[in-house]
Amino acid sequence: VFNQVLVVGGGIAGIQAALDLAEQDLKVFLVEKTPSIGGKMSQLDKTFPTLDCASCILTPKMVAVSRNKNIELLTYSEVRGISGKAGDFHVTVAKKPRYVNFDACTGCNECVMKCPAKVPDEFNMGLGERKAIYIPFPQAVPRKATIDAEHCWRLTPPEKMRKNALERGITLCGVCARVCPPNAIDFSQKEEVVDLNVSSIVIATGLELEDPRRVPEYGYGKHTNVYTHLEFERLLSSTGPTSGEVLRRSDGRHPKRIAFIQCVCSRDLRANFYCSAFCCMASIRQSMLAKEHLPGVDCSVFYMDIRAFGKGYYQFFKRTEEEYGVKYIRGRVARIEEKPDTKNLMLVYEDTRLGSFVKAEFDMVVLAVGIKPSEISPAIPITVSGSKRLESSLPVTLEVEEDRFVKLVNPYLNPVATSVNGIFVAGVAAGAKDVSDSVMQASAAAMKSSIVAKDAKAP
Ligand SMILES: Cc1cc2nc3c(=O)[nH]c(=O)nc-3n(C[C@H](O)[C@H](O)[C@H](O)COP(=O)(O)OP(=O)(O)OC[C@H]3O[C@@H](n4cnc5c(N)ncnc54)[C@H](O)[C@@H]3O)c2cc1C
Ligand code: SF4
Ligand code: SF4
Repeated sequence: VFNQVLVVGGGIAGIQAALDLAEQDLKVFLVEKTPSIGGKMSQLDKTFPTLDCASCILTPKMVAVSRNKNIELLTYSEVRGISGKAGDFHVTVAKKPRYVNFDACTGCNECVMKCPAKVPDEFNMGLGERKAIYIPFPQAVPRKATIDAEHCWRLTPPEKMRKNALERGITLCGVCARVCPPNAIDFSQKEEVVDLNVSSIVIATGLELEDPRRVPEYGYGKHTNVYTHLEFERLLSSTGPTSGEVLRRSDGRHPKRIAFIQCVCSRDLRANFYCSAFCCMASIRQSMLAKEHLPGVDCSVFYMDIRAFGKGYYQFFKRTEEEYGVKYIRGRVARIEEKPDTKNLMLVYEDTRLGSFVKAEFDMVVLAVGIKPSEISPAIPITVSGSKRLESSLPVTLEVEEDRFVKLVNPYLNPVATSVNGIFVAGVAAGAKDVSDSVMQASAAAMKSSIVAKDAKAP
């Protein structure tokens, strides 16, 4: 317990907190629920406001985590239980089976190439496919294969395949095991539970995208050429499903007119009443990148007001308008209709600056979908501010705001402290924010949790 800290969530906030804690010679357990650390930033092409390549900034930090002797990385793992108090928390972590011997796997990709089972690829937001055995993206850390048991023909065979194999007395698939050079595949793996004893905890569980179908008039999931901003990000990315070519889903052609719609599911009482903070800047950047990828493309951004609040952000916004010719139209789009023949999209909107109602045609629509906090862990009991306290093994429950972001009990003077002494929060888990604000809060959370860890006395 003495000098040990737990960080939950391996996005940029969790990575930064873990590195800062490790640098102070504290032992850090970094728990990430997916097979690789990196979070949402790993899916981004470039970042505002500098247009730096996201993976060029993120990958060295991910590698630094994997090489740091003070950090124990527990990927594909979840926090299942938590009790105790500041200076002496007891945490149970479940490591899900990868069905691959972690130490033996070299990340050579042989199994991935030969596996016959294909599944929509979550890293590419379903725009491409991955295999049942997979390494989530080229820069994944750790670079180890994982079998997605639900889609593996051996572990969860489709009914027809299972019957056929039974009748003919043959073994199901197992191709990965046959081709793996170091024999790393292990179908017998089971969940493993580890108990940790830490003095403080940093929660950095980040964000999920809201479901754009909550705003049905935009036809997401119904109109072929309506995308979310994260899908569009994968189209822009050279590691994406189209190797960085912006192509329409319906006919594989380059769009000539793209509409970006802001505040979809944000600042909307039907979904979330809060502002998602970074999506104005994300769309401004995406419209600029679209202009670079597709010379001559017409980009229009539909907004209520542009929130370009950070250092250099407003200048970035004005540059897209003045140098790149992005059009900014102030007004809510009322509805989108799809043209059956071309799959083009008719937008009906009010241009509040002109005071007119307009109907205009576009080839592609990108929705700046709002965000919500990820679920922290069923093991960490939560109380929504103002509601009744739940019984729990923790002395107090972790309070979240009405919007379910973790409540900061002292937002001015200690903007990382939660309602539980010894538990701190960083990044989007505490409220919508961009990368640089997430990193700032992560370093602050690392500092505050290190103070608790250094104060804790060995039992
Ligand atoms: C389309 C789009 C474009 C963007 N563009 C930019 C940009 O250009 N510039 C910029 O500064 N920002 C941008 N952002 C915002 C940026 O992605 C976030 O600010 C940043 O990712 C927040 O980092 P985080 O670590 O708090 O959360 P996340 O990146 O969400 O990471 C959280 C991590 O925690 C893990 N996790 C979640 N729950 C659990 C759990 N219960 N147990 C264990 N692990 C868990 C997740 O799997 C994930 O790895 C953009 C976001 C989007 C969606
Ligand atoms: S057993 Fe077959 S389907 Fe399953 S991961 Fe291996 S190769 Fe893929
Ligand atoms: S073939 Fe074996 S060593 Fe290579 S990535 Fe797959 S599991 Fe790992």
